[in-house]
Amino acid sequence: MQHQDKHAEIIIQGLPVSPGIAIAPIHVSARGFSAPDVYEVDEKNLPAEKQRFQDAIDRAKSELAEIQERLAQLSTEEESRIFEAHIMVLEDQALLNRVNLAIAERRQNAEYAFYAVMQNFLEAMRRIPDPYLRERTADIEDVSERVLNSFNTSVTRKNISPDDRHILMAYDLNPSDTASMDRNLVLGFATEMGSVNSHTAIIARSLGIPAIVGLEEAVIDIKALTPCILDGYTGKLILYPTESTLNTYKLIEQKKLRAKNALDSLRDEAATTRDGRAITLSANIGLLEELPAVKKSGATGIGLYRTEFLLLKEEQDDLPDENEQTEAYTKIAQAVAPNLVIIRTLDSGGDKLPMEPLSEPEPNPFLGWRGIRVSLDRPLIFKNQIRAALRASAHGKVALMFPLVSGLSEVRAAKEIVKQCMDELTKKNIPFDENIQTGAMIEVPSAAMIADILAKEVDFFSIGTNDLIQYTVAVDRVNPYVAELYRPTHPAVIRLIHRTVNAGNQEGIWTGVCGEMAGDIKLTPLLIGLGVEELSVGPQQVPSIRKAIRSLSHAQCSVMADDALKASLSADIFKLTSDLAYSHYPDLFE
Ligand code: PEP
Ligand code: MG
Repeated sequence: MQHQDKHAEIIIQGLPVSPGIAIAPIHVSARGFSAPDVYEVDEKNLPAEKQRFQDAIDRAKSELAEIQERLAQLSTEEESRIFEAHIMVLEDQALLNRVNLAIAERRQNAEYAFYAVMQNFLEAMRRIPDPYLRERTADIEDVSERVLNSFNTSVTRKNISPDDRHILMAYDLNPSDTASMDRNLVLGFATEMGSVNSHTAIIARSLGIPAIVGLEEAVIDIKALTPCILDGYTGKLILYPTESTLNTYKLIEQKKLRAKNALDSLRDEAATTRDGRAITLSANIGLLEELPAVKKSGATGIGLYRTEFLLLKEEQDDLPDENEQTEAYTKIAQAVAPNLVIIRTLDSGGDKLPMEPLSEPEPNPFLGWRGIRVSLDRPLIFKNQIRAALRASAHGKVALMFPLVSGLSEVRAAKEIVKQCMDELTKKNIPFDENIQTGAMIEVPSAAMIADILAKEVDFFSIGTNDLIQYTVAVDRVNPYVAELYRPTHPAVIRLIHRTVNAGNQEGIWTGVCGEMAGDIKLTPLLIGLGVEELSVGPQQVPSIRKAIRSLSHAQCSVMADDALKASLSADIFKLTSDLAYSHYPDLFE
């Protein structure tokens, strides 16, 4: 690694969201426009580099002057003034000085130094609360891109671009950025925003990409190419690691690999407690690409298939039609057969992409048009999805599950649509499973409170703790500012889980948990003790949860859960469950 001799080691603490260790230089990805290649410049070539910068500025300025002149003839003065403002940006001596200084200090190529300066400036602007000033970022982006395009890029160089293996540093990433990452190049990522329960974090865990979030101001402060270790176990980002830190991490990596191999060897063992309680241990997926990982994990089918990633893509206007969906669902059903795949119907809105552009932003998207509400408002789209799932059910074992149920009428309306779809397929002689099971996600406190009523209408419950927690304690699941208050062991949360399981038992239906709580080894004793029968977790978490289940006794977990239900503080409940976990499988905590 470079620079090791010149810099002291720096450790930045973030929030670990996906375990693993990555060792590579940093690549900083900024919002707005893409980064140019970055490379080092020898001391003796610095003057030439500064000249390249000046030439690029001059070229951009003359382009702008030309545009301005043309516009002045064609249109109103106002439009040509926009470009006058762009020219003024390029004449700002303070800015030019900063770039020249950055070239000298960073010893990086002129376009990258310019990009880094502009990116920091833009980031600072984006954080200004004033909407008028925030709007102006578009102009700065525009002029920055123009300058970048006007560099002569044909120079020879030792190029260190994102084509090399790197750790990605970004302000934020959306789930599709994460899903489409090239695992051979992006060894890990770190972001300023995000939380443990964001879909980006969930996908990172599922794909096994080490990740840290919540690194304040990191995009502004961290320089591209900085040698780095990303520790997804503890949330440490170590810049300019010393030789001894590097050696320590190499040893940790080896130890983790040995532990992983030992867990993988349990793949075919039953997920049954020591006293014989069988738990269905299934996997959560959002992408077909995760199917090999599901198979490798030994999970019993798929307890949650999030269809948002198939249906909603930022760059696409139309949703996949019934045939395209049938093909995808059939692939999954066949891949996990004879086990079950639970297809969750579209859960758009809230923290996920909207199904259609909204005329104006919702004041409170988490309490707005999301989940089953959207599907029921758009029956034609909903029916396409239901028919596709039904058609796939002829090729494997498929169940349907409705997200964000808040009351009985939604479940009834959704089931009525399933019935209509069945009638339509029957008329066309298209085969499907007539006994297909339907379930309700329990992720709104109102649904948990009326679980006794809902249990009469559905075949199973799957508790979506990611949302259930946020709605119960009024803490946005993706807001790092209140992450401290997001407590899975809050007494209210565990009472709602208990209530749901009991209501299910009364009606003879099973209850599972498919939220991230199910994948936390410290909480496994609590969920088992509360009587949960299925745990659906990311494929990477299956082996450790299997080991946890096999180490525990259901009777002991039940006694602990009874105590937990009497406790008043989240911290006390957390201690009860994590102590039991630690005493039964200390090795999983290493
Ligand atoms: C949940 O809310 O716990 C859940 C599983 O659904 P999602 O995370 O997709 O909202
Ligand atoms: Mg949810």
